[in-house]
Amino acid sequence: MRRRLAAGNWKMNGTSASLSEVDALLDAHPAPGVEMVLCPPATLIAALAARRGRHPLGVGGQDCHPEPSGAHTGDIAAEMLRDAGAGFVIVGHSERRADHGEDDALVAAKARAAHRAGMVAIVCLGETLEEREEGRTLEVVGRQLDASVPDGATGGNTVIAYEPVWAIGTGRVPTTDQIAEVHGFLRDRLSARIGAQGAFVRLLYGGSVKGSNAAEIFAVPDVDGALVGGASLKAADFSPIVAALEEAAAREAP
Ligand code: PEP
Repeated sequence: MRRRLAAGNWKMNGTSASLSEVDALLDAHPAPGVEMVLCPPATLIAALAARRGRHPLGVGGQDCHPEPSGAHTGDIAAEMLRDAGAGFVIVGHSERRADHGEDDALVAAKARAAHRAGMVAIVCLGETLEEREEGRTLEVVGRQLDASVPDGATGGNTVIAYEPVWAIGTGRVPTTDQIAEVHGFLRDRLSARIGAQGAFVRLLYGGSVKGSNAAEIFAVPDVDGALVGGASLKAADFSPIVAALEEAAAREAP
């Protein structure tokens, strides 16, 4: 009922030379058994969208402005990402929350902009190490979910990525029990927030996912895929993650 999703976030990495990695990824997965999305820097969105040809690879932005146009130097509207070929946009990544002071209300406004432009918003949330050590993980992610997911969110226009800040780019990964606890909590909270559609919203785990740990993470209930940073830059690293997700999807197929 929820199509599994492997999404790659290239962050501020990549030039046109990096598109050869996309070719290698598409060659490795000509007919993927899961949804595959790459979110390159905005400068590469149009080129990547053209490069995929008829392959179902999805393309995403990494941020958008809440407004459709205006005097916002350096910002990019959701409609512009859509026009360049994006069907997804990451909003509320912890690096933007930290580097640019983005709060939950702004993240929700960005998610609304993605919906307005006809795109899927990948809404990121997650606790810091300090918050986890204080035993506040569920309180924090619950608050982020309530305030960052806009009204009108559905399984068709919204994906949630649970990304513990302390696991991003660090090689540290929560235990499968810790992931299961948060994902189960988020599933229930989503249903309380948006009703029946909560069962259709995909919940991704993100934070140091690699080929070597993907299979055990994908076996956790309510993990519908992954948002992958560093390991999405090279086809040789991302492809085993996609393959592990394909295997998980095949196992649960009727
Ligand atoms: C991310 O930045 O969304 C992420 C999960 O990064 P990494 O996979 O490198 O930890």
